[in-house]
Amino acid sequence: MTHVKPGQPHPPVRLIGAGPGDPELLTLKAVRALGEAEVVLVDDLVNPEILAHCPQARLVRVGKRGGCRSTPQDFIQRLMLRYARQGRRVARLKGGDPCVFGRGGEEQQWLARHGVACEIINGITSGLAAATDCGIPLTLRGVARAVTLVTAHTEDDSAPDWKALAASGATLVVYMGVATLPATRGHLLAAGMAPATPVAMIERASLPAQRHCVSSLAAMEDDARAFGLRSPAVLVIGDVAAWARAQETRADLRASA
Ligand code: SAH
Repeated sequence: MTHVKPGQPHPPVRLIGAGPGDPELLTLKAVRALGEAEVVLVDDLVNPEILAHCPQARLVRVGKRGGCRSTPQDFIQRLMLRYARQGRRVARLKGGDPCVFGRGGEEQQWLARHGVACEIINGITSGLAAATDCGIPLTLRGVARAVTLVTAHTEDDSAPDWKALAASGATLVVYMGVATLPATRGHLLAAGMAPATPVAMIERASLPAQRHCVSSLAAMEDDARAFGLRSPAVLVIGDVAAWARAQETRADLRASA
């Protein structure tokens, strides 16, 4: 990964992490990079308020939202390449961190194979923000020494090693896990994880509409249904999830402040 400091030439393409949604969770580096971009390809999980940092840029909306129609990945890559070859300063703005289930690595390699340099600018990944938003420390001395970010959804239908994950004792943060929630529950129970293991399900983390539901491994399917859990959401599974505050929304928090 190359990191370009202020004053150095702009790389042809930047993959910028837009963070989980709250515009205040953008990095200063992302804000500067957005201000320098001429074309910005915007992912559909990006909060539109963030685009206030690139009023000068041409915006191209691309997206790969699970379950919805989306712009095919190879089309997006070709578009980046085309703009870069035209000499434009291209930014690809992605939700969370570009390299956490964001295809940042793939896109960087693909561009490199086509002779185009690409800088990656980190963003706060939604799993971190989601946990913090509802009061969960992802690691906690004496409770959890490790965290695993995992997705239950893969294009090739390969599955994570649930047995190893269950045995690891690490806090699990499951991305893209709403549709596959019943299967994840089944796999972890079959792998021997305790049915009473605390689970927090956090929707729209860091946004005003954020809400979460606290449950257990055994009950999470019924509770998610009753709660009406919708994507984008992450699941935090492990003893630290017991630290989640009782369910409330960000609006509730503001009202009680
Ligand atoms: N690169 C992103 C993840 C992209 S995969 C990141 O680092 O956060 C898309 C998944 O991210 C969603 O299915 C959901 O699991 C999670 N996600 C993204 N934004 C979210 C948000 N604001 N709240 C909860 N989950 C979110």
